[in-house]
Amino acid sequence: MQQDTHPRPELLISADAIERRVREMGAQISADYAGESLTLIGALKGCYVLMADLSRRIDLPLYIDFLEVSSYGDSTESSGIVKITKDFKHSITDQHVLLIEDIVDTGLTLNYLMDLLATRRPASLAIAALLVKPEKQQLKHPLKYAGFEIEDRFVVGYGMDYQGYYRNLDYVGVIDPETLDNPGGF
Ligand code: 5GP
Repeated sequence: MQQDTHPRPELLISADAIERRVREMGAQISADYAGESLTLIGALKGCYVLMADLSRRIDLPLYIDFLEVSSYGDSTESSGIVKITKDFKHSITDQHVLLIEDIVDTGLTLNYLMDLLATRRPASLAIAALLVKPEKQQLKHPLKYAGFEIEDRFVVGYGMDYQGYYRNLDYVGVIDPETLDNPGGF
């Protein structure tokens, strides 16, 4: 029999629970910014699923754009060194801006991005993240919208990857990267 080289990550947060929470976050954002238009900036690649789902739960005029950052290389530990690999051209000056992140671990990536976006003089700047790991948190900025607090374990799914894989899971699961040297299963 063939060895199972592509095990399914252990369930942490179900697709249903995520859907309910994202709906609540969207309703809260719609209420908080009522009467305004809002710019959502997503930090690729991990945010793409949250951006698709959350943006459709926000009942406001929305402008959506993305930047891409690289903070870990292929490691699972935050280096604190953030590199912008794709910037966006849209002007956010005088706009209400919400930065969309999949997960906040140390917060170092967001510290860097928030400082960068603040130099562009938006009318307001806040953060929405699906997951937060409070343990190693060094975030200097308030996390205005947070989906779930989780313990310090490596998660995948709902846009989040391990070496490029698992982003397509509709739930958030846990893997132990040390036991997986071939996540693609090839
Ligand atoms: P921070 O700078 O807050 O330590 O890390 C933020 C980024 O690291 C996230 O946007 C995400 O790309 C990655 N990251 C942090 N924790 C995890 C995790 O448990 N799983 C995955 N797949 N990525 C993570």
